[in-house]
Amino acid sequence: MALDIIITEDQIQARVRALADELNQNLPSDGAVVLLGVLKGSYPFIADLSRAMGRDVMVDFVQVSSYGSGKSSTGVVQIKKDHDINIEGTHVVIVEDIVDTGLTLSHLRQLLLTRHPASLRVVSMLSKPAAREHSVPVEHVGFEIENLFVVGYGLDYAERYRNLPFIAVLRE
Ligand code: 5GP
Repeated sequence: MALDIIITEDQIQARVRALADELNQNLPSDGAVVLLGVLKGSYPFIADLSRAMGRDVMVDFVQVSSYGSGKSSTGVVQIKKDHDINIEGTHVVIVEDIVDTGLTLSHLRQLLLTRHPASLRVVSMLSKPAAREHSVPVEHVGFEIENLFVVGYGLDYAERYRNLPFIAVLRE
């Protein structure tokens, strides 16, 4: 397997700073903000983003599974871990690694809205618009990419490559 880098570490870090600024401009300066990372892929992004925002935020995680250990979706969405913080009345930002078909995110958005946050927005490091099957708003996107399977910066293939600081296409 070979890795072809499509987004470098410097490009990612510059984009994280810009997304942090965007979020700070769009969130009220008072009121609780909850960054809700979608495990496992969002872990480097939420760590970098939460520090780049430089304001008071709460951090929590959910785990939703729609993929097995390979490259293709099963189409089944399951909540494997729910958040711990009560999000009612808070400004929730879902932090995603990638939006592909939109299945995971559309289910998560619907579920979280039933819990009455004051506002709900999504930031995703990557988006594959050509792969979208479920229409779902993504307010803040790091990079739009082609419909390719990518790894790195949290994204895995069979649990490997998550710790790469860049994003790459895995070539067999
Ligand atoms: P969706 O529900 O939007 O189809 O898929 C979302 C999830 O599928 C992501 O959070 C991620 O875990 C996984 N996924 C989608 N595309 C890719 C990809 O190109 N690479 C990796 N490693 N995971 C992906």
